[in-house]
Amino acid sequence: ALRPFIVGNWKMNGTRAMLAEARAIDRSAQRLMKVEVALAPPYTLIHAVHKEAEQIGVGAQDCSAEADGAYTGDISAVMIADAGAKFVILGHSERRQGHMETDALIRAKAEAALAAGLKLIVCCGEAEATRDAGDAEAFVIAQLRNSLPESIEGAGERLSVAYEPIWAIGTGKTATVADVETMHRAIRALLVSRYGEEEGGMVRILYGGSVKPENARDLLGADEVGGALVGGASLTAESFLGIVMAA
Ligand code: 13P
Repeated sequence: ALRPFIVGNWKMNGTRAMLAEARAIDRSAQRLMKVEVALAPPYTLIHAVHKEAEQIGVGAQDCSAEADGAYTGDISAVMIADAGAKFVILGHSERRQGHMETDALIRAKAEAALAAGLKLIVCCGEAEATRDAGDAEAFVIAQLRNSLPESIEGAGERLSVAYEPIWAIGTGKTATVADVETMHRAIRALLVSRYGEEEGGMVRILYGGSVKPENARDLLGADEVGGALVGGASLTAESFLGIVMAA
């Protein structure tokens, strides 16, 4: 199995003043080699974090589906790779909801990212009403079925999936370990059917949504949880490293 993968998603937080946190995270990660650690800062900091980082991976939070051209304000996968990114987060609920991103668009972005040599973290997750209606699993699996590329060479290493229930993001509420395990097993079944027993079996399935040092051990110890995608608690080295050490 691959190492646990702990990824900090800084969202729209961080100026160059935060490079000290990235440096501190990187230096500690060098002593915690059994965990793969990465940060996804805003675009403006990708190159600076990349230059600081000796151990951790650096990624982006989104990319365009287009290669280049007249798309004012957009950033291509080739550009973020050129800035030092090794992966990109795609299909975060804040992009799906705030920017009307569809499954089809996310798949097109994933294809563009793979063509640029990037690894992928593809996100999925249901709203509270969907869970209350008992439809969470069907919703999430449909989302992934339509957002994930049909084939990925070396999917086991190049793809991670992040399950982030929307109602758990930034709320302090987390899914129960039992609910996370049920969802992650369903996601595993889809990955195996799409990418095969070996590659599909290797893909790390991350949990995200109010992961903190205090709850990380339980969540990361759950069956089929291969890591965490961390928002708020990734903004300081102290809390993020607390999660890394629980992995
Ligand atoms: P929080 O950890 O702040 O709940 O955010 C989770 C998330 O959306 C990570 O992508």
